[in-house]
Amino acid sequence: MFERKQTIFDNEDVLHDDYRPDKIEERDEELEMYKSCLLPVINGNQPRNIFLYGKTGVGKTATTKYLLSHLEEDSKKYDDIDLNIIYMNCEDLTSSYRVAVNLVNELRSVENQVSETGYPLSAIYTMLWQEFDSLESQIIIVLDEIDYISGDDSILYQIPRARTNGNLEKSRVGIIGISNDFKFREMLDPRAEDTLCEREIHFPPYDANELQNILSRRSKLAFKPDVLASGVIGLCSAIAASDKGSARQALDLLLESGHIARRQNDELVTISHVEQAKLLLRKQQVEKSLRDLTVNDHLTLVSMVLAEIDENVPARRSVIFKKYLSLVGDIGNEALGERAFHNHLSELTMLGVLDRYERNEGRNGGIYYQYELGMPIESVFSALEDIHFSFDLDVENLRDRARYKGII
Ligand code: ADP
Ligand code: MG
Repeated sequence: MFERKQTIFDNEDVLHDDYRPDKIEERDEELEMYKSCLLPVINGNQPRNIFLYGKTGVGKTATTKYLLSHLEEDSKKYDDIDLNIIYMNCEDLTSSYRVAVNLVNELRSVENQVSETGYPLSAIYTMLWQEFDSLESQIIIVLDEIDYISGDDSILYQIPRARTNGNLEKSRVGIIGISNDFKFREMLDPRAEDTLCEREIHFPPYDANELQNILSRRSKLAFKPDVLASGVIGLCSAIAASDKGSARQALDLLLESGHIARRQNDELVTISHVEQAKLLLRKQQVEKSLRDLTVNDHLTLVSMVLAEIDENVPARRSVIFKKYLSLVGDIGNEALGERAFHNHLSELTMLGVLDRYERNEGRNGGIYYQYELGMPIESVFSALEDIHFSFDLDVENLRDRARYKGII
């Protein structure tokens, strides 16, 4: 059943997100600035608080890990420096409380862990100061993806101020906060903004040339020699640059193109594989965004599916709206007004779930819109199956009807 095929990749792991590149490309300015913010540590001074921001995939995590591992290495050369670095991704740590508990546990032995419930936040902070002070060292706390911390963001000013507030005597702590969203800053408690954003470094999106250099270097490690047809790296870079300028997206495209070539038993990765990879990744992205939609978006989408099954598509808004009314009637939900329903259609169009066509009927007919699914109906079904609805939706039945109509 499984057979090893190694004609395309040498080591595909190199294209994965958790790979740590030994060189950071195209970020000389940011590296220089970042380095100067970290320099006090080597001189035995208080670590600065640093706020790093930029869209996803622009190298914030990679650059941070790269610099901090060098800092750790170089600090060993100095006997009078004792440095501890703690890296944490906040994706699953959505409150100051959880971050603090996890920091305490990170510093404690397995037998001595504290539970995530049952203590007031102030007690957890007291434990944290004790743990920090017992290290008697310089400490850098990296909180990656801090935008996940919602509500109380006290951790972001409690840690930087711990020493000033007299909570720490023997250790010096600095925070590096990394955010995918600059607006996060505006929502911060002013105290947190003051301390955390002491030094700010912005990571802008990459342009196509920069992405091309990042990909070229990485692809030499990832692929067998000469398996990438000419133009492949250029196309991956151009697609990612025109979208969000994300190196992650460019690397994902390259990896997926390689997978497709391997599946199709081709000897070369070609531009056609990149095109297929682009469609596939887009589909996956849409499926992911479908999961996060509201009930009304989902109902709107199901109405469109019903129109695809029963009517001629692209269908006019009024046709889809009728489907919607009978759907909400069936499940006993309250119906949106027609205008609100149109807004949901537009939202789904912006997400790429629907395609919209503008029709112009000349002087008398005026302009109107028609919609159809912007992706294969089968991917909509499989996405719908993964969603937990607040109403009963028989996807299998819809699929049968679509089959009966010959749409799938
Ligand atoms: P972010 O944290 O900003 O979302 P990452 O640091 O995780 O982005 O980068 C995404 C991917 O792109 C990773 O695989 C990373 O190794 C790679 N990458 C990003 N920027 C660079 C760069 N300047 N040089 C080399 N690789 C990079
Ligand atoms: Mg990151």
